[in-house]
Amino acid sequence: MKKPPLILFNVILFTILTLITIIGVPFWAITYGFSNVEIITTIILFFFTGMSITAGYHRLWSHKAYDANIIVKVVLAIGGAMTLQNSILHWASDHRVHHRHVDVNDKDPYSANRGFWFSHIGWMMREYQSERYSDYSNCKDLQKDSVVMWQHNHYIAIVLIANIAVTAILGYLNGSILGMMLLAGICRIVLVHHVTFFINSLCHIWGKRTYTDCNTARDNGILALFTFGEGYHNFHHIFEYDYRNGIKWWHFDPTKWLIKGLSFIGWTKNLRKCPEDRIQQAKFAMQLQFAKEKLVHKYPNPDEVIAKLESEYELLINRCNEYYTTKKRLLRVQQRQLKRTVDGMDLQAKCAELKAAFVAQKAHFTALTNLSMHPA
Ligand SMILES: [Zn+2]
Ligand SMILES: [Zn+2]
Repeated sequence: MKKPPLILFNVILFTILTLITIIGVPFWAITYGFSNVEIITTIILFFFTGMSITAGYHRLWSHKAYDANIIVKVVLAIGGAMTLQNSILHWASDHRVHHRHVDVNDKDPYSANRGFWFSHIGWMMREYQSERYSDYSNCKDLQKDSVVMWQHNHYIAIVLIANIAVTAILGYLNGSILGMMLLAGICRIVLVHHVTFFINSLCHIWGKRTYTDCNTARDNGILALFTFGEGYHNFHHIFEYDYRNGIKWWHFDPTKWLIKGLSFIGWTKNLRKCPEDRIQQAKFAMQLQFAKEKLVHKYPNPDEVIAKLESEYELLINRCNEYYTTKKRLLRVQQRQLKRTVDGMDLQAKCAELKAAFVAQKAHFTALTNLSMHPA
C-alpha cells in the first residue's frame, strides 16, 4: 500500500530539534558546560510546559474534567504552545477522536494497533488524515472559549515569542543566551515531546488493564513518573472525565495535585470525579475475568470453581451496591444537617456495618481470585 505523502515541515522540525539535542547539547556541555541556573530553568520549564499539556490541553480542554479561571487558562495556553504540539483546538480535536475511536486504525489518529513508532511520532510525519486537519466540529464548545481561540489564531506568534523571549531574556541575564536556548529551549522541547508522546505509545503497550480490556490502554506506575501522572491510562480511557488519572492518594499524579492545589485558592473549580462504586465495580469485573481465564487454563474441569467465583462476585456486587447506596443516603442526610437526629445515628451505624461487610467480601473475593491464579 502506498504511504501518504510526508509532512516535510514536521519531518525537518523534528530532525533539527533531535540533532541539536543529541549532538549540539552534549558538545556544548563538554566545551562550555551548563550552569546551575540553566539546569534549574530547564527543569522548571520542563514541568511547567509539560503540565500545561496534561493539565491544560488534556484534562481541562479535551475532557472538561474541571473549570479554571482566566489566569490559569492563559498560563496553560502559553505553556502548552511552548511545547510545539499544535494549538489547543487542534490537539483536543485529535484527542477526542482518539478516545472515540481508540485503536481503530483508520480513525484513531494515533492508533496503538499500528505499532509503537506510529503511535509515538510516526502519525505526525505523514498526511494520514489530511481531510480532518481543519475539521474542528467535535470541539464546538472550545470554539466558544476565548482563550482557546486567541491561542489558535496567534499560535505561531505565541510559540516564537514565548520560547525565544523567555530563554533569550533568562540567558542574557545569566550571561549566555545560546547556552540557555540550547538547554531550556530546544533540549527541553524534545524531552517534553517524548514524555508526552509516551502517553500515546507506551501507555497503550506496557502495563495492566485494571478497569477495562475494551482497548489497549494500560495502567503503569513507572510511566506515571515520566508523564506527569498520565501513566494510569487504562483508568483514564474508561473514566475520561475524571480530573485524576492516579486515583489513590499515593499514585504519582502531579497534574492531579496541581489541579486540586489550585482549587484551594479558587482558581480551579467543579473538579469532576467518577463515582467510587462504578470504579470499584469495573475493577472487580476485570478481576473476575482474569481469574476465569487463568482457571480455564489451569484446570481440566474448572466449571465448579468458576461457579463458586461467580457467586462470590455476585455477592460482592450486592454488598458494594448496598454500601454505596446507604453511604449516599447518609451523605444526603448529613447535608440536610440531620446528623444528630436518631435517623442520622441509625444510618451512620448501618453504613459502618455495610462497609465492614463490603470490605470483608472484597478481601474474600480478592483472596479467591489470587488463589485461582496460584492454586496450592
Ligand atoms: Zn490513549
Ligand atoms: Zn484523554
